[in-house]
Amino acid sequence: MKNIVFRWIIILLCLAVALFIVQIRVNSIIKKNLNSVIKVEFPQYTKEELVKDSEKRQKYLLTRTNVKFEVHKVKMKENLWGIAKQHGYSVHTVIGCNPQMKTYHVNVNDKLLLPETGGCLYPVSPNDTWATIAEKYDIDEETLKNTNCRVTDLSKEIFVFVPGKKPAVDTLNESMQEKYALRDMFRSPLAGRLSSTFGTRRHPITGKVSKHGGIDIAVKSGSLVAAAADGVVIVASTDVGHYGTAVFIDHRNGYVTHYGHLSKILVRVGQKVKMGQIIARSGSTGRSTGPHLHFTVKKNGVGVDPLKFLW
Ligand SMILES: [Zn+2]
Repeated sequence: MKNIVFRWIIILLCLAVALFIVQIRVNSIIKKNLNSVIKVEFPQYTKEELVKDSEKRQKYLLTRTNVKFEVHKVKMKENLWGIAKQHGYSVHTVIGCNPQMKTYHVNVNDKLLLPETGGCLYPVSPNDTWATIAEKYDIDEETLKNTNCRVTDLSKEIFVFVPGKKPAVDTLNESMQEKYALRDMFRSPLAGRLSSTFGTRRHPITGKVSKHGGIDIAVKSGSLVAAAADGVVIVASTDVGHYGTAVFIDHRNGYVTHYGHLSKILVRVGQKVKMGQIIARSGSTGRSTGPHLHFTVKKNGVGVDPLKFLW
């Protein structure tokens, strides 16, 4: 009898010790996993770090959104437009995901954060709710929440991703804001290959080094030319010096645009035109080596680089 009781006591003691050991192990495993989850899933950064460093921004967003992001190292001869096109979206997505950018020119080895799909980052302010952000970007609140699916407390976030939207101008840095304002001012008079840029060049006919007052866009003769912005036609003539047949438009805000080497004029002096309205057909009149449109932008009488506006 005594023997049996003793045996049972030993067995129960062994079980208790075993249970105790198992519990300690389970606890330590849970603790380890929790620690690793917190470390891997929610890296914490300051806003400055996130703005400066594309890789940190990538880690931050990968743990909070259901969107994949890659860091792209700019290669030789790459530009913003080409990179954006490769990914199936516009330059606005690249600009909208890279708050470190101060200009739309990129340099070799610059690191750009690129999402798998179009959209932009939004820097969260203290008073923001999902509803206020959704309203600002005219997007469905549920879509916004689902995209940022692992964000539990919006007030603690620095950036959220807004899918399918262009960056809001007021969220950009000052330098980019200025460029966005210029971009809205003019549209391209026609689509074509840029064959000569603004600035110093060797003239194709005279061979002299001179300043080119605008840009040349190579297009077939007869291509439709549109007004770059709203304005009034102040010159429409077949004899405008080396421009040959040309149209000048005064935009009434200090800016005047010139369209040269035309083949046919479709407006008259004094006529009001709207941005995008067809004003002429391109050609090769005046001092020209082949069919192209010469396009000049003047601000208060001084030539400025049209590519500041057309991008
Ligand atoms: Zn030219």
